[in-house]
Amino acid sequence: MALARIGLGSNVGDAAANVRRAIDALGALGTVAACSSLYRSEPWGPPDQPDFVNAAALLQTALEPRALLAALKAIEHVMGRVETERWGPRLIDLDILAYDDLEMREPGLTIPHERLFERAFALAPLAEIDPAFQAANDRLPAEARASVCRIAAGGG
Ligand code: AMP
Repeated sequence: MALARIGLGSNVGDAAANVRRAIDALGALGTVAACSSLYRSEPWGPPDQPDFVNAAALLQTALEPRALLAALKAIEHVMGRVETERWGPRLIDLDILAYDDLEMREPGLTIPHERLFERAFALAPLAEIDPAFQAANDRLPAEARASVCRIAAGGG
């Protein structure tokens, strides 16, 4: 069994409900050992889009990284397909933030996630459930940390 840290985000429709649904779906890939509070974060990129709701989960899984990525994409696809007509395509984003202590850089899959250490919306929820990432979160600029705030307990 490996310990994968999964990042979740949504900014379409009922974003909190989408994140909770995705956490439920992770249960099919292993055991969800912990999930963070929900956080609201300012969108990156074009400012004319809604805020994101983010969370992180610890997933004990027998899936290898590639199989795990494929399974996450399948969850995104199923959730996106169900809601596409109403809300559009970016309904849920699932990332492998880290996987045990693995370091890999291959086409299409980088672990830890390439931008984990610069993203408060990924590090803040992760640090809540995995103290190993607290120091990295604390090192972020104050402005970045202020762009993310906890909005609800227990994403699951
Ligand atoms: P996005 O939908 O913007 O999150 O980008 C998803 C793409 O990023 C996936 O299709 C993957 O091929 C690639 N990717 C690279 N590293 C990771 C990772 N650690 N977790 C999730 N996706 C990754």
